[in-house]
Amino acid sequence: MNDCRIGEVNWRPEFSDEQPTKENSFNPVVTKMCTKCKLDGYIYFEDGGSWYKKPCEYCSGKGSVKERKYEGGDSPLALEVSEDGRTKCPKCNFRFKVTDPNVWLGDRHRRCGQRLSVPDNWLLYWPEKS
Ligand SMILES: [Zn+2]
Ligand SMILES: [Zn+2]
Repeated sequence: MNDCRIGEVNWRPEFSDEQPTKENSFNPVVTKMCTKCKLDGYIYFEDGGSWYKKPCEYCSGKGSVKERKYEGGDSPLALEVSEDGRTKCPKCNFRFKVTDPNVWLGDRHRRCGQRLSVPDNWLLYWPEKS
């Protein structure tokens, strides 16, 4: 392990990461950077004027953790869609066109992971229906 990390960490997801599917309700288990040690695997602490390091307990010294991609957002929130198809995510306040397939991950908002439900009169591209 290189103790002196400066600059950007070249972060790559692991091959074992799940793909978003209907089975995991489009919220796959993925590898995330450990927020406690920021990939380092060690926690640094000062004691009597000297710095020491110990393996990060949060990630068991691995530097990364396996977690669901999105936190919560499992209860669908209803979208209000205007006549020209514009809407706003109630969770992250992102404005988008309801017809834009790039916005969706199944029925999840790709940006924030919130499940969204659309009024019935809006015909959408849903991956599971095709
Ligand atoms: Zn850690
Ligand atoms: Zn959102």
